[in-house]
Amino acid sequence: MTTVAAYAAPAANAPLERTTIERRAVREFDVLIDIKFAGICHTDIHLVREGWGQAIFPMVPGHEIAGVVSEVGPGVTKYKVGDRVGVGCMVDSCRECENCKAGQEQHCVRGAVQTYNAIGKDGEITYGGYATHVVVDENFVVRIPDGLSLDAAAPLLCAGITTYAPLRQWGAGPGKKVAVVGLGGLGHVGVKIAHALGAEVTATRPVTRRRSRSSPALSTSSSPRCRRRWTWAPTSAC
Ligand SMILES: [Zn+2]
Ligand SMILES: [Zn+2]
Repeated sequence: MTTVAAYAAPAANAPLERTTIERRAVREFDVLIDIKFAGICHTDIHLVREGWGQAIFPMVPGHEIAGVVSEVGPGVTKYKVGDRVGVGCMVDSCRECENCKAGQEQHCVRGAVQTYNAIGKDGEITYGGYATHVVVDENFVVRIPDGLSLDAAAPLLCAGITTYAPLRQWGAGPGKKVAVVGLGGLGHVGVKIAHALGAEVTATRPVTRRRSRSSPALSTSSSPRCRRRWTWAPTSAC
């Protein structure tokens, strides 16, 4: 066990406090990561406020973790000390069910282990990325390319994959039109990813009765005429 610095909410709705937590000793397939950046996801706020039900306290939020490997277990083959890596919203799963074997660990029938506010397979409470270090099995660690700064990479571990996955699932790309409802944290990432994939993208406000008469849309397009141009317009006619 190693004692590391962290920020934790001691109770529901309580402000985060600087504290220390214990990280497990590196096991055979574990990677110890020096955390450089951790994104702030709205899920962190929901969970600290117990907005989605009873939570586990003290809670160290953070599931958009970017850092550098500082130690590896003897069985680790994917990473070495010094590698730039990230961890998203889960740190383990059963690895035996149909979904796990299909690479869909997030749909593990026995329940994936979340990065924080969860109980690991070893019975220990998981703590997230608002800390100086984290220990994670190499199979739940991703590599961050050298050309991507760690601070920019961190939000991709949740907001990024949450929007990238459906865009890939539904084939967003040249010749396709994508509408993003709500230009918030995930929304703006979704606009950028859909645009980078080559789709024509329109971002609009959520439709409410109060706003439904005229809801200006943010439009971008990969067409030569308006490539890289974002405009406020009543439609996505660009
Ligand atoms: Zn998140
Ligand atoms: Zn499983």
